[in-house]
Amino acid sequence: MHTIDTIYIDGRFVTPHGTELFDLHDPATGAVTGRVRLADEEDVRAAIAAAKRALPAFSRTGKAERIAMLHRLADAVAARRDDLLDAVIGEYGAPASRAAFMVDHPVNAFRETAALLADYPFLRRMGTAEVSMEPLGVAGLITPWNSNAGFICGKLATAIAAGCTTVIKPSEMSARQTQIVTEALHAAGLAPGLFNIVTGRGDRVGATISSHPDVAKISFTGFTATGKAILRSAADTLKRVTLELGGKSPTIILDDADLSQAIPLAINAAFMNSGQACIAGTRLLAPRSRLAEIEARARSAVEAVRAGDPRDPATIVGPMVSRTQWERVQRYIRIGVEEGAVLLAGGEGRPDGQPEFSGGWFVRPTLFTAVRNDMTIAREEIFGPVLSILPYEDEEEAIAIANDTVYGLQAYVLSGDTARARRVADRIVAGRVLINSLTHDPKAPFGGFKQSGIGREYGSFGLDAFLEPKALLGEGV
Ligand code: NAD
Repeated sequence: MHTIDTIYIDGRFVTPHGTELFDLHDPATGAVTGRVRLADEEDVRAAIAAAKRALPAFSRTGKAERIAMLHRLADAVAARRDDLLDAVIGEYGAPASRAAFMVDHPVNAFRETAALLADYPFLRRMGTAEVSMEPLGVAGLITPWNSNAGFICGKLATAIAAGCTTVIKPSEMSARQTQIVTEALHAAGLAPGLFNIVTGRGDRVGATISSHPDVAKISFTGFTATGKAILRSAADTLKRVTLELGGKSPTIILDDADLSQAIPLAINAAFMNSGQACIAGTRLLAPRSRLAEIEARARSAVEAVRAGDPRDPATIVGPMVSRTQWERVQRYIRIGVEEGAVLLAGGEGRPDGQPEFSGGWFVRPTLFTAVRNDMTIAREEIFGPVLSILPYEDEEEAIAIANDTVYGLQAYVLSGDTARARRVADRIVAGRVLINSLTHDPKAPFGGFKQSGIGREYGSFGLDAFLEPKALLGEGV
C-alpha cells in the first residue's frame, strides 16, 4: 500500500490541512493500492502565499541561473526513472511500450526548455522602444492524469524559464507519480516557494487556484468542459489562461496512400496511450474508392492489437485509468451501435482470454465503420481505444469532414504524394498536422484551434505565454 500524506509547500513536505482520503487503484486489477490525503482550500492559499513570497527574488534571476536550475531538475527527475516507470504503469496502466516515453519526456522537457531559454530574446528593440518580456507572476499549473509527470515538468520548466513561481495541482488520480516527481524536484534544491505542489480535488483545490487574486496565470491541461469552468472563474481577475484541451483528431487517408504503411500508422495514432490521448486520431477518413480494402486491413490490424497486461512489452492497449473511464468507453461503444455505426472489431465488454485480469478495467480495441460525422462517436472525445471509419467521396469532402468538429488539436494526412498531402494539410484547421508521421517536435508550438484550447505550449510560443511585454520609451532608452 502506498500511503501519501504530505503535500509540498514552501520547500517542505507538510501534512495537508485537508483530511479527505482518496483511494488509488491498480487499473489492471481494480485493487486499491494506496491512499492519498488530499489538500483543501486552506492548503492552496498557503501554497499561493509561498509562491507569492518567492516571486520578487526569483523573477529577478538571470538566464544562466535558471538554465542551471533546469538542468538540476532534469538530473533529479532522471535519477528517479525506475520509480517513475513503475508508478506510470501501476497507477494508470500505461503499456510498458508507452511508459518509457512517459518517463523520459519530463526529463527532456527540462533540457529542451534550458536550450530554448539560452536563445530566447527577453529584450527587444521595437521602433524607439525597448521591450522587455516580464514574468507574469504566480502561475497555477493544473494537470491531468494521462501524462502527469510530463505535464508537471513541462509546465514547471516553462514557468521557471520565464521567472514565474508556481502552484501545481496535479490530478488526484496520479498521486504516486506526483510524489516521486515532488521528491525529485525537492532534491534539486531550489529556493523555497518557487514551486509548491498540492494534490487535491479539482472542484476545491483547482477552483481555488483558478479564482485566487494572487495567481496571475493558469496553465491547464484536461477536458474541454473543465477548461471552460477554469476560464470562467479566471475571468474575474483577468488571469492569463493557457488551455490544452481535448480533441477528435482526423486521420485522412488519401486514395494514393500505401496502405501497408498507412493502416499501422493510423492504428497507432488512434490507440496510443491506450486511446487515452488528447491527440489520438480517432476519426479515420477513408476514400470510398478504397473503402473495402481499408476496412479489411484496419479490421485485421485492430484484431491483432494486444490488449491486456500493461507490463507485457507486447501490449498496445492497457486498462482504462478508472472504472468511470471504463464505463464511459462502454457507453460510447453502445451509442455507436445504437446510432447505426457498423462494428468491425471489438465492442462492449472485456477482451477475451484474460480471466486473470477480470477485475481490471480492460476494454476491447474497437473499430466502427459506416460512421457519419454527425454521430456521437464522431463528435465527442471518447478517450479510449475506439476508432471510427468515416467514408468520403473526394478530397474536398475529406477536408470538409476533417474540419467539421468543435475541436482542432491535431490531424494526420497519409498519402503516397507528399506535395498533395501538404496541400491537404494546409487546409486543415488544427494546431498540428502530421504528414505520414507520428512525430513530435518540442521546439514546435503545441495546442489547439477552436475548443481544443487557448494558446500554445512548447518552444518560444510556450514561453511567451508566461511573459508579458513591457515597453520603455523616452529618454535614456
Ligand atoms: P480533467 O479535466 O478531468 O482534469 C484535469 C485536471 O483539472 C485535474 O487535475 C482535475 O482535478 C482538475 N480539475 C477538475 N475540475 C476542476 C475545476 N473545476 N477547476 C480547476 N481544476 C479542475 O481531465 P483528465 O481526465 O485528468 O484528462 C483527460 C482530458 O485531458 C482529455 O480531455 C484530454 O484530451 C485532455 N488532455 C489534453 C491534452 C492537451 O495537451 N491538449 C493533453 C492531455 C490530455
